[in-house]
Amino acid sequence: MQWRMTETSTIRRADAAAIEEAAALLRAGALVAFPTETVYGLGADATNGLAVARIFEAKGRPRFNPLIVHVANLDEAERLAELDDRSRQLARRFWPGPLTLVLGKRPDCPVAELATSGLETVALRVPAHPIARSLLEFAGVPIAAPSANRSGHVSPTTAQHVAADLGGAVAMILDGGPAEHGLESSIVDARGRRLVLLRLGAVTRGEIEAAAGETLETRLAADELRPSAPGQLESHYAPRAAVRPGATSVAGGEALLAFGSDVPAHEGPMINLSPSGDLREAAANLFAALRALDRPGVSAIAVVPIPGEGLGEAINDRLRRAAAPRG
Ligand code: AMP
Ligand code: MG
Repeated sequence: MQWRMTETSTIRRADAAAIEEAAALLRAGALVAFPTETVYGLGADATNGLAVARIFEAKGRPRFNPLIVHVANLDEAERLAELDDRSRQLARRFWPGPLTLVLGKRPDCPVAELATSGLETVALRVPAHPIARSLLEFAGVPIAAPSANRSGHVSPTTAQHVAADLGGAVAMILDGGPAEHGLESSIVDARGRRLVLLRLGAVTRGEIEAAAGETLETRLAADELRPSAPGQLESHYAPRAAVRPGATSVAGGEALLAFGSDVPAHEGPMINLSPSGDLREAAANLFAALRALDRPGVSAIAVVPIPGEGLGEAINDRLRRAAAPRG
C-alpha cells in the first residue's frame, strides 16, 4: 500500500489498487475525493441519498444545491436522462471534458432526490481526467461530486488542499497531482428550445456556440456563496402546498412532516424524516417526503421543529424557502 503521511493518512497515490479500493468505498456509501480536470471533487454514490447527505455534511454547506452527477460515458448518461440530437451532439463534442449538461431525468432515473434538490432535472458530465474515469468505471455507479472544499473556501486543486480542508470527513483522497484547469465546468441547460448557459467555466461560450450551431441564452445562477432571497434560485423544487415549519400541532387538512420520536398527534398523511432523530437520514429523505406529502387535499405541510446544527441548517433553510410566499 502506498500511504503518504502528510496532513492525513487518507491521501493515497492513485494507482490501480487505490482506485479499486476507492470505488468499493464509494459503493459502500463513503466519500472519496478525486482529481478531475477542473478541480478536486468530493464524490458519493449519486444513487445513495445517505451518501449524498454526507457530502453536504462534510462541506458544512448551509444550503442544499443540486450537484453535478459524473458518469462514465454517454451511454450511462442516456440511462439517467433524456437526451435529444442537440444534447447528444454537445456530449459527443465535449465529453469527456468540462461541460455539464442539465437534462430532464428519465422516469426511472436512480439518482437520489438530494443530489438533484428534488428537481425533475439532472446535471451530468463525463470527466476527462483518467483517474476520475477509472474511478467511475470501477465504481459502476454515477458519482455526485461538488468541489472538495468546505463551504465558502476556495476550490481545491491538490490532494493536500482537500486534506487540509476536509480531512477526516473523507474515507480516501486519491492523489493525482495538481488539477489541470483549476476552473469549474461550464453548465448548459439543454432542455428547452434555446440552450441556456448557467455557469461559465472551462469551456468557452464560443466553443459551445460553434458546436451547437446556435447562440446561447445566458442565465447565470445566483452566486453560490451569496445568501439569496427565498425562492430566488430557480433551480429549486418547491411544493405546491404551503409549508409551515416549527409546528407543534397539526390542523385539519394539513399533512405532517415529523422528525424524531416527539410526534404531534395527527390523523392525516404523515411522514417521519427520521424516527431516530438522525439529520443525515432526514436530509436524504427530505425532498421525496415533501413531494409525497404535496398532494391534492393537503392545504399545508406542518413541519415539526428540526435542530439547526450540522445538516439541520441546510434542512431548515430548505423548509424556510418552501414556506416563503411565492409569486
Ligand atoms: P458544483 O458545485 O460544481 O457541483 O456545481 C453545482 C451547480 O450546478 C449548482 O449550484 C447549479 O448551479 C448547477 N446544477 C446542478 N444540477 C442542476 C440542475 N438539475 N439544474 C440546474 N442547475 C444545476
Ligand atoms: Mg465549489
